[in-house]
Amino acid sequence: MSDPKNINWFPGHMQKAKREMQEKIKLVNIIYMVLDSRIPKSSFNPLIKEIASNRPILLLLNKADLADSNETKKWMDYYKAQGYYCLDVDAVTGYNMKKIVPLTYEILKEKIDKNKERGIKLSMKAMITGIPNVGKSTIINALVKKKITVTGDKPGVTKNQQWVELDKNLDLLDTPGVLWPKLEDNGTNLALTGAIKDDVMPIDEVVKEGFEFMNTYYRDAFYSRYKISEINSIYDYYEAIAKARGCKSDDYEKINNIFLHDLRHEKLGRVTIDRFTSIWERTI
Ligand code: GDP
Repeated sequence: MSDPKNINWFPGHMQKAKREMQEKIKLVNIIYMVLDSRIPKSSFNPLIKEIASNRPILLLLNKADLADSNETKKWMDYYKAQGYYCLDVDAVTGYNMKKIVPLTYEILKEKIDKNKERGIKLSMKAMITGIPNVGKSTIINALVKKKITVTGDKPGVTKNQQWVELDKNLDLLDTPGVLWPKLEDNGTNLALTGAIKDDVMPIDEVVKEGFEFMNTYYRDAFYSRYKISEINSIYDYYEAIAKARGCKSDDYEKINNIFLHDLRHEKLGRVTIDRFTSIWERTI
């Protein structure tokens, strides 16, 4: 069995990544931290708060189209209560993406007004951060479509960094800051969404937990897709999926892949894997 902690980078890499991120963060007024709405806790890396040093953090709960909207709302309320700004988005269809710029001005209003009073003409600056696969590049591409890349001549624009003008007074760093996922007991949840590669965690275990998870939270969608009736053991799930999809019930690899593909691509409906209550009920 692979140790989930192995997916953490070597400490040297981690330190380097942290230092680079710290340098970039010094250049910006606001940090957009992209989360996967299906795993709003597991895709959140608290390190960013540590290195943000009082800069506002706007959490973009991306892939909202794949998540359970009731759960997304609970997570957003939770994070808002912790002092984060939150917006649920879907970078592929564009849902709520147009709200990012106005919300940024709203968040930075005090700073912008102060600058105005002092006659300082500086564009506000933002950067995107997040763990791999949450949709950082997709968000950047959606935001910067047909926008101009700003070079170092503009006041306050640092040389050697590429900035893209999102709006008259708002520039975005064109490369995201990549964070590693913080691993505690959430390796399975990261694996179920595909946030970490399938060979990092023992896949049979991941799928088994996935079956149990679906059975607990989204039984109707799960049972109806694979025509599951009665379950006495884990093998009944394999039997049912094999029958529904025309493969051998002992071809575990294939069945694992079918299930994971279906789960990740909304074939089992919209799912939120990090459950708000199960993780947080002790802390709220
Ligand atoms: P990055 O590693 O954080 O830069 O992630 P990418 O931008 O490469 O996105 C990872 C995958 O998620 C790609 O296949 C995207 O098409 C997909 N993706 C990104 N945003 C969304 C979204 O809002 N909804 C859905 N359904 N898929 C998304």
